[in-house]
Amino acid sequence: MNLDALQNFCAENGCTCLIHEPMSAHTSFHIGGPCDAFITVETDAQLCALIAYLRASQHPFRVIGKGSNLLVPDDGYRGIVVTFSGTAAEDMTADPEQGILCCGAGTTLKNACRAALRASLTGLEFAYGIPGSVGGAVFMNAGAYGGEISQVLVSVDYLDENAEIRTISAKDAQLSYRRSIFMDHPEWVILRAKFSLGHGDPAEIQSTMDDLMGRRKSKQPLEFPSAGSTFKRPEGSYASMLIDQCGLKGLTVGGAQVSEKHAGFVINRGNATFADVTALCTKVREIVQAQTGFVLELEPEVLK
Ligand SMILES: Cc1cc2nc3c(=O)[nH]c(=O)nc-3n(C[C@H](O)[C@H](O)[C@H](O)COP(=O)(O)OP(=O)(O)OC[C@H]3O[C@@H](n4cnc5c(N)ncnc54)[C@H](O)[C@@H]3O)c2cc1C
Repeated sequence: MNLDALQNFCAENGCTCLIHEPMSAHTSFHIGGPCDAFITVETDAQLCALIAYLRASQHPFRVIGKGSNLLVPDDGYRGIVVTFSGTAAEDMTADPEQGILCCGAGTTLKNACRAALRASLTGLEFAYGIPGSVGGAVFMNAGAYGGEISQVLVSVDYLDENAEIRTISAKDAQLSYRRSIFMDHPEWVILRAKFSLGHGDPAEIQSTMDDLMGRRKSKQPLEFPSAGSTFKRPEGSYASMLIDQCGLKGLTVGGAQVSEKHAGFVINRGNATFADVTALCTKVREIVQAQTGFVLELEPEVLK
């Protein structure tokens, strides 16, 4: 892989390129070895040019958001990681009359919720406090407190495998519990999402957002790095309830621990490695299956 040529391309196109950047600096778990290069883009034009370059030069790559649903191995990722810069986190337009909010993929969910509030639009409050980007949320149909992306999504613009910009409707995006069509097409790049929201009272919207954030702070171990819920909800039960029932709160491997505060979270106590987290998750899965019969599936994606 010619990293010098890649760096030159990035410099010419105004993207930031960090060679052998540790992914622990870009994941909410603070875990992960180096990628070959970590590139940040500010605009769709930069992103499209970069993706075309990476495809032409056959560099393997992945586009990520805020790294809040990722587990990266200790030896890192052999490829290029692309994400959005700070300015892309503000890329939103609202049409209060039509009840439409359009967000760039790099917009944080927090900023998207604040934009909806400013436009007196209701329906996105559930996402306030999910620490990811709009792209990441669409990718996995993020949800919380009874809401999920599928309930408000109208359509998604994305770059397909032939570098064509396409639009897919929410209906065709195959959204279901923590799933979307984008998971079957990791080569597609989400560019922007359009949401349909209702007209609401700003005071009520703000109060719901504050309430949900308060519930997170009181129940979740936000003081430690993690990737949120470690396991998906199994059909007919709740992962955190099963783990708690098996007495696994506090179970530790190296620096990884099943949170004492919320059994659904594996946390990084300070120096956890990918190996610690995966060994702990294997133990939890084995014990839960042996004691309850439920099979737990990892929710964060392993970047490989
Ligand atoms: C404390 C905490 C609480 C959480 N609570 C919740 C919760 O309540 N509900 C919930 O659903 N999740 C929750 N999460 C998990 C996470 O925040 C969500 O899954 C979020 O949607 C991930 O977004 P991201 O931008 O961080 O994605 P990343 O982790 O960066 O990426 C996740 C996947 O999306 C893909 N992706 C990201 N952007 C693009 C793009 N533009 N184009 C193509 N693919 C893309 C990546 O390649 C990767 O496969 C929580 C996480 C933490 C740390």
